[in-house]
Amino acid sequence: MTTSDGRVIAFPGADSQGPGLTIVVPAYNEAEALPHTHAKLLAFARQLKERRGLAVEIVYVDDGSRDGTGLVAQGLKADGADVQVISFSRNFGKEAALMAGLDHARHGAVLFMDADGQHPTAVADTLVSRWLDDGYDVAFTYKAHRRDEPRLRTLFVNAFYGLVNFGVRHKIPSDAGDFRLLSPRAADALRRLPERGRFFKGLSGWVGFRQIGVPYEPEPRLQGEAKWSFWGLMAFSIEGLTSFSIVPLRLASLLGALLAALSFVYALFIVMETMVFGRVVPGYPSLLVAVTFIGGMQLLMIGVLGEYIGKILSELKGRPVYIVGDSVLKRAGESVVPQEPPGAVGRTD
Ligand code: UDP
Ligand code: MG
Repeated sequence: MTTSDGRVIAFPGADSQGPGLTIVVPAYNEAEALPHTHAKLLAFARQLKERRGLAVEIVYVDDGSRDGTGLVAQGLKADGADVQVISFSRNFGKEAALMAGLDHARHGAVLFMDADGQHPTAVADTLVSRWLDDGYDVAFTYKAHRRDEPRLRTLFVNAFYGLVNFGVRHKIPSDAGDFRLLSPRAADALRRLPERGRFFKGLSGWVGFRQIGVPYEPEPRLQGEAKWSFWGLMAFSIEGLTSFSIVPLRLASLLGALLAALSFVYALFIVMETMVFGRVVPGYPSLLVAVTFIGGMQLLMIGVLGEYIGKILSELKGRPVYIVGDSVLKRAGESVVPQEPPGAVGRTD
């Protein structure tokens, strides 16, 4: 199947009978945690099948792991739920993995969960209930407490969401995570968005429909450590900011106008000083401060412009968001079906 923007989707959603749910699990170096996570997900899938008659499929997206995550995933049993394993040709990042999961989902509704076991299935059950019982299209989770996080990080997070949400109609809830469920029509809408720079949390809010937040406490990681470094988060924030908001550009113009106004007032003041009090302006230090301040401001704003131009460039190049190496589909209770075509890419325009 091909989407409106020419992206090839390997497994069209119409494949399933009746209502179904695809659980998308991005995994990067999670070989140890995966079997535990899989056991939990299978139990959850069986429960959904029995209680609600939902057909469940689990899609593992191996994001170019170097610890054999892909092989471990391919060895997992499709015991009561179909299992797909999509392996990338290299590490493309979590956003790309989420998108691949969305593209390969064979059921309408899509639930995104981490591979490290931090997302409890009890909360996932609440998300399903928000969708099926209460009729919401997007059920997202947010951390109930951020208490054990460093102050500096909280400060950055608040600044980030402050900027992203400044003056926009549809605010992205701060603290919301990627752990969320999309109804079939919300998932469809998300698939149709053409941009390559993905900021999943923002985009899935942007599509609209009825949305609801569910608070939760993340569980401790099963193994390894979180993969975010300070610079990684910084890059992610800039990506999110520039793909979602032009507020930094607007701030640049506002700041420019403000500085111009201030210097005009100051110029008037100097003229007054000379004419009324006859003082000759000394002002070497103030001159230096003004010059360096304005120089710094200009560099900063050129940097901001550069970010947006870089963004335009990468959208223009039109490279695929991810490249699939292997993909495998195991139907519940059947043997492995390797999928064609190997090497399929996320977008082919
Ligand atoms: N992940 C991924 N690609 C990456 C980094 C992370 O697919 O380049 C996956 C990772 O395996 C996990 C999820 O994204 O399932 C969340 O990552 P992590 O636990 O490191 O982040 P946190 O829980 O702190 O948000
Ligand atoms: Mg985690």
